[in-house]
Amino acid sequence: MFSVGGVVSRSNNKFRVNVIVDRCKECGLCIFICPTKVLVRSGVMNRYGYYPPDPVFIDKCVGCKLCEYVCPDFAIFIEKV
Ligand code: SF4
Ligand code: SF4
Repeated sequence: MFSVGGVVSRSNNKFRVNVIVDRCKECGLCIFICPTKVLVRSGVMNRYGYYPPDPVFIDKCVGCKLCEYVCPDFAIFIEKV
C-alpha cells in the first residue's frame, strides 16, 4: 500500500485500486458491490470523520470497475498496471 496526496493505493500484477480518502462519505456501496470482496472499511478516519474503503484483498481484484462506477462521490478509481 502507498499513500500520496490523500490517495491510498494498492495494486496486484494487473490492476491498481485508488481511494481518494477525503471524498469518501462511507456509504459502503463499493464494498457491497465488489464481486470478489476486495474492499473492507478502513480503520483510519478521513478528515471529515468517515472511514473509507481499503482494498485489503487487492490480489482478488479483477478490474471490473464496479466500485468506480457505483461511487457517488468519485472517491475510488481503477487503473490497469
Ligand atoms: S474493480 Fe471490481 S474487483 Fe476490483 S475492487 Fe473494484 S469492484 Fe472489486
Ligand atoms: S462508494 Fe464511494 S463514498 Fe461510498 S464508501 Fe465507497 S468510496 Fe466511499
